[in-house]
Amino acid sequence: MKKNERFCFITNDVETTSILHHELRDETGKFVLEQGMPRLLDLYDEYDIKTTFFYTGYIANLYPEVVKMAYERGHEIASHGYSHKVENAFDVMSEQKIREHLNRSKHTLEQIIGDEVISFRAPALRVRKNISMALLETGFLIDSSVASQRIDMFLSFGVKHKLNWFRSPRGIYFTKAEDIFSKGDSSLLEIPVSSALLPYIGTFMRISPLILSVVRSSLNLESKLTGRHINFLTHPNEFIDEPPIDSLTTKRRSKNYLSYLLGDLLRHRLKIKNLGSPAIPLLKKELNYLSSKEYNFMRCKDVYSLYKTRQ
Ligand SMILES: [Zn+2]
Repeated sequence: MKKNERFCFITNDVETTSILHHELRDETGKFVLEQGMPRLLDLYDEYDIKTTFFYTGYIANLYPEVVKMAYERGHEIASHGYSHKVENAFDVMSEQKIREHLNRSKHTLEQIIGDEVISFRAPALRVRKNISMALLETGFLIDSSVASQRIDMFLSFGVKHKLNWFRSPRGIYFTKAEDIFSKGDSSLLEIPVSSALLPYIGTFMRISPLILSVVRSSLNLESKLTGRHINFLTHPNEFIDEPPIDSLTTKRRSKNYLSYLLGDLLRHRLKIKNLGSPAIPLLKKELNYLSSKEYNFMRCKDVYSLYKTRQ
């Protein structure tokens, strides 16, 4: 690897989550298939960028075409677990269930594309320390569930384990088998999701384009100084124009009122900002910026062997 080669990963999580309706919906999967995916794929073609798509096994089963269309256009197909239900988060399921979900999602995707799937990202970035073992045992070599030094975890689910983000490395690293948040000598490569205190993700791009531009410049500066990668996370369901909500009541997922107010209601109001078509020019802005800085746009699987030889 050349010394000054700087990598940029555009990573997309594909699922049936309706941001507008604040729940998982099969109909949303159809919008993802017919609007979100084509919009993103055309944009990536326009910029001549290859990216990584992380799918839940559930949406892949429901609409296999949603997987094929990205594969045929040269993007990496990766796993986003089997189910995005809160009870199937990878920091709450039993060890046995974790392995079942990993195997099932891997198998589902491999059946559809007839090719190997080696990269994983946990739904809602929720993982336990020892998930490296389960990932390796089920044939995964790359993870991208750690958002190193991102501080907004208090607004999301699974805070307990996400506190580990404070101590995890910012650059790409091989993990410890027993601790995904630490450098070690296992065969699992971690490609952290970028953050400069605040996350470099599509949600934030839509909520506050101005603050995101500060995050983006900080990351670029850091990359310039240290050679670290940039990993931008977005979702095709952010680029769909779903019919408006029929009632203003936000689905309540939390039991106590305060966490309902913060975690559900406030979060929901913010998350629907610039949803759908208005998100397209915002993403173009990111891609314009990153392209102008001459990053090497990589799929996750493209860098594995580069790092392996340096290990
Ligand atoms: Zn997700």
